[in-house]
Amino acid sequence: ADALARAESLIALTPDFPKPGILFRDIAPMLADADALADVTAALAAPFDGEFDIVAGVEARGFLLAGTVAATARTGLLPIRKAGKTPHPTASVDYALEYDVATIEASGDLTGRRVLLVDDVLATGGTLAAALSLVERLGGTVAGVAVILELADLGGRARVPATHAVFTA
Ligand code: IMP
Repeated sequence: ADALARAESLIALTPDFPKPGILFRDIAPMLADADALADVTAALAAPFDGEFDIVAGVEARGFLLAGTVAATARTGLLPIRKAGKTPHPTASVDYALEYDVATIEASGDLTGRRVLLVDDVLATGGTLAAALSLVERLGGTVAGVAVILELADLGGRARVPATHAVFTA
């Protein structure tokens, strides 16, 4: 618990980024610290130990955590990409952003695979809800959803109910 408290203290808070009124949480200093990276990686996966055989993360910061979790658990890794970067996507999902629409895509077949979905921050939940649909469209079973930080006021949990959050703000 002390180790995780130390890791949490390394998340940097930047007011008014990327826009006025937004308090941006930057996990980069936490990733740069060897102990914090290892401790947070372990904490993301701990509730799902033995229950997943592939880890999925959404471009870009989800990739970082999917990589550390998958390598630590010795599972495979599924990169979920933004539109237009996958040569032959087998599934794609559109989702709403604040003023816009975005698309995520992936290729391959997840039939019979148990997927742990990871991301850095759960905000409105739009990104993870779309990623959940994408995994299901690829034929996978979602074994769990794990994030480093849940921004509770934004209500993302309503859209991604069983999410395991290492930290809550
Ligand atoms: P959502 O779709 O609204 O839940 O937004 C989640 C996405 O936005 C995640 O993939 C995060 O990487 C990013 N995000 C939202 N707020 C923050 C923040 O304060 N710091 C870092 N990333 C954030």
